[in-house]
Amino acid sequence: MRAAAVLNRLLGFKGTVVDDVDFTGTEMIVRVRLRAAYLVCPCGKRSQARYDSSRRRWRHVDFGRWRVLIEAEIRRVDCAGCGRVRSEWMPWARPAARHTRDFEDMAAWLVKRMSKSAVAHLLGTTWETVDALVARLVNEHLDTPRLDGIYRIGVDEIAYRKGRKFLTVVADHDTGRVVFVGEGRCQHVFGEFFEALGAAGRARIEAVSMDMTPIYRKATIKHVPHAAICLDPFHVIKWAGEALDLAYQTSREQDVKISVDGLTHAATLQKVRGALRQPAEKHDPLRAAIIEQLRRRHPRLYRAWRLKEDLRLLYQLPADQAAEHLRRWINRARRSTIAAFVTLARRLRRHRDGILNAIHLQLSNSLVEGINAGIRLIQRRAHGYADLDNLIEMIHLCHGGISTELPTPTP
Ligand SMILES: [Zn+2]
Repeated sequence: MRAAAVLNRLLGFKGTVVDDVDFTGTEMIVRVRLRAAYLVCPCGKRSQARYDSSRRRWRHVDFGRWRVLIEAEIRRVDCAGCGRVRSEWMPWARPAARHTRDFEDMAAWLVKRMSKSAVAHLLGTTWETVDALVARLVNEHLDTPRLDGIYRIGVDEIAYRKGRKFLTVVADHDTGRVVFVGEGRCQHVFGEFFEALGAAGRARIEAVSMDMTPIYRKATIKHVPHAAICLDPFHVIKWAGEALDLAYQTSREQDVKISVDGLTHAATLQKVRGALRQPAEKHDPLRAAIIEQLRRRHPRLYRAWRLKEDLRLLYQLPADQAAEHLRRWINRARRSTIAAFVTLARRLRRHRDGILNAIHLQLSNSLVEGINAGIRLIQRRAHGYADLDNLIEMIHLCHGGISTELPTPTP
């Protein structure tokens, strides 16, 4: 096999022939040309209307110890399709890119998994180059019509700059992807997303899941009044846990008359707190015995615990029993005379529809919470983002459904 033929195989660029190769210092310059006589505009239209031409180099993935540069003549096409003069489409690179598709794909794959400075070092480039590459990939992605076909979304806030500032993140429940990242957490920011959807897109929105902050609820009611607001089950359960904590604190720990053989009073109290917090189905015999003592000696605290457990049951019952269960629970809590649960009953009655919507549509906000965990990881990897635009780009790259495949197939 001739050297040029070997290189052709190594590069694997479609419709391309290698003319010759030069080695200078640490660089290997591979001169290639397109086989076809016609030009292809990035819009997809073929053309013969060559406007002018120039030579350009693209950085490719290294071969062994060599930096590889692809050099070719690139022509500008006077395109009848889009009516513009544009650089022709090249099979090995994305439009306007200065790196080959393989190089970019490898960089994007790596940057999802390690810090940008490590990626830059490994690929023998600068982190500014890696940044610019990510920005271009993300902008290309954001330009595609990706907001069509969104029906059920989740919204949440994420802290950055050590918790001093916030972003609003919107994800699509059906694809699991981030579809919007906005700066700040207010009605207006979430409103920007609804405006980007357009009237037809807004009409398609069926459900919005969220935690209990009124900011996103207000924006939802304003922009998509027909959509079902789904309040996150996790937060409802958390409220019940907090109410139980309050009830326990006001019952004055020192008066708790629970005894466990072989444990000091302080150690016993710790067990009591643990037994109250833990879901009943996870209780070991000791904790179950503590609850039994509570039932006999501290009926009020026991009732508070039962209320917490019964509220958890709301999410385990068949959906058609949920409304009745919640109605009864609210009545019981209101009559319980335990202040924390009376307050909680009032709160749940106010949020009744949102709680039941989440059950009927089986939507929680765990998708967005999971994405938030991923975003915290991105921030840690970058030692906290100094530049907000970079952080937003990384969120889209890692969670926006931009596919990043390595150039070589992995088993
Ligand atoms: Zn065109």
